[in-house]
Amino acid sequence: MRPPLRLKLGALELFVLNDGDIWLDGGSTFGVVPRVVWTRLTEPDEQNRIRLSMNPLLARVAGQWVLVETGIDRKPGPKHRELYKLGDENPLLAQLAALGVAPEDISWVINTHLHFDHAGLNTRWQGGRLLPTFPNARYVVQRQELEEATHPHERSRASYLPENIGPVLEAGLFEAVEGETELLRGLRLVPVPGHTLGMQAVELESEGQRLAFTADLIPTLMQTPLPYIMAFDLYPMTTLETRKRTYARWLEGDYLLVFTHEPGHPLGKLVVGDKGYRAEPANP
Ligand SMILES: [Zn+2]
Repeated sequence: MRPPLRLKLGALELFVLNDGDIWLDGGSTFGVVPRVVWTRLTEPDEQNRIRLSMNPLLARVAGQWVLVETGIDRKPGPKHRELYKLGDENPLLAQLAALGVAPEDISWVINTHLHFDHAGLNTRWQGGRLLPTFPNARYVVQRQELEEATHPHERSRASYLPENIGPVLEAGLFEAVEGETELLRGLRLVPVPGHTLGMQAVELESEGQRLAFTADLIPTLMQTPLPYIMAFDLYPMTTLETRKRTYARWLEGDYLLVFTHEPGHPLGKLVVGDKGYRAEPANP
């Protein structure tokens, strides 16, 4: 497990946390990219799975703790953990504790979308009941995502586990937003539809420095090229359009990117070469 990576973005203090690894089918992860090509980038295990990570972001903004994504759901049990080669425990809470941040201290949880590998610690078992992990937080999500997650269809159902959504709804902690939203000064939520229609990225800005948390628009650095779109995306052509529009802005604004599933160094910047867009590892 990677220890928290501490960053300064202008006057803001940020930590790229790590909630351990997930092993996903390599073919599904690379979509239309052939195996002979993607195996040059990453090595599959004996079951054709490749190693990815979960990298939630913790930020101190306007005197409040903001947590972007809550890691992966390990609650469904041993079969689920075996399928994705997960450990038994979420390292996320221990990482927060090591930084002196208790679950009660979090004021805002931003759910980029509600898939189980991004919203897994939205809830946890406490005293025999499944309850919101961050009881004093507002959980911010696009209204469309909440709608899709609570009315999944056959192709999205396996990703939206009710246990990560229901208890937060019951506690009245979801804050549904619509479209681009300035949540706090210097923190903007930006719709990036495609993987799901209601997915949002998070942009931070301070003293002229900019950072974007990519959500599943760019899961890892190696998936940055425009056609490298996951088979998991519900609307791949929408992903392509969103990528073109968003990449242009992130390149122009010199954004530092935090890749939500990057298994190695989770930061990069966009560059354009003769083969189109790619990302290079970067530091602030
Ligand atoms: Zn994901």
